[in-house]
Amino acid sequence: MPFNNGPMIWFDGKLVRWEDATVHVTAHVLHYGSSVFEGIRTYETVNGSAIFRLEPHMRRLMRSAKLARIDMQWTQDELMQAAVDVVEHNGQPSCYIRPIVFRGSEQFGVDGRACPTQVAIMSIEWGRYLGADAIEQGVDVGVSSWRRMAPGANMAMGKIGGQYVNSQFIAMEAHDQGFNDAIALDMSGYVSEGSGENVFVIIDNVVYTPPVSSSILAGVTRDSAMKILGALGYEVREQTVARDMLYIADEIFFTGTAAEITPVRSVDRMTVGSGSRGPITKAVQDQFFGITSGRLPDQFGWLTPVTIRQTAVGD
Ligand code: PMP
Repeated sequence: MPFNNGPMIWFDGKLVRWEDATVHVTAHVLHYGSSVFEGIRTYETVNGSAIFRLEPHMRRLMRSAKLARIDMQWTQDELMQAAVDVVEHNGQPSCYIRPIVFRGSEQFGVDGRACPTQVAIMSIEWGRYLGADAIEQGVDVGVSSWRRMAPGANMAMGKIGGQYVNSQFIAMEAHDQGFNDAIALDMSGYVSEGSGENVFVIIDNVVYTPPVSSSILAGVTRDSAMKILGALGYEVREQTVARDMLYIADEIFFTGTAAEITPVRSVDRMTVGSGSRGPITKAVQDQFFGITSGRLPDQFGWLTPVTIRQTAVGD
């Protein structure tokens, strides 16, 4: 098993053992990417474990299902409770929670709405997504030759499984070129986002981040960074970002549940700013990691405390 998984998965309303949470090869989702999903972190804080921003993640899951026209038999509150149950049962003080909603087996037609909706929530242990040093040292990225999805062809606001084929092209090309990740442009040539991260660009103490109309997923961590920056008194401009701005930026950072707040130290092998983590990036990180470790007060109400069982059920 390549990951350190929690022993139980919430699957269609019941906690089942990891190895029993299976689907049939005829499932619509396997053929046509008809799923919506989330990625949520549980942090081990100094006051015990807590899920980070559970409510906006589950709200986005519900909205993604609506965009994908997948009927949901569960309410947002029920899924929030199910996520808490999974974390509490699985005995992992810090973990990555993956809820997924998908079309199961019933018909081979593309439409798929006759297929039953199935829902699973699992947890795995997952450390630093972009490498152990990335948080301090930053990552090297390139501008992808792949564009983000065109408006009118897909719906970037939804975290829809099939749309991640685009992200895979971006990530695979970046890795083949020796980069940690890439920044993709939208169909108009403006900066969109990374393969699984939103991007912030800082020039002359002003913080820029692309708007939803630049084919981004509206990240929960992006929202957290914007709130932190606002509280610190920085101006954040949600506006189209020209590719040129990447090359003259004083600082760039990525945000994402997996990537957290990660500085970008070069773009297309050109150094960003001084080449080391900039002061605004550090200030956002200090707040973000302060809150998620429990060392700073949870001033925005972002943490849902959970009680981790000592002996995981299913062991
Ligand atoms: N963009 C894409 C394409 C993503 O997959 C993710 C990860 N969910 C993000 C941005 C960052 O979103 P969040 O901060 O909600 O994890």
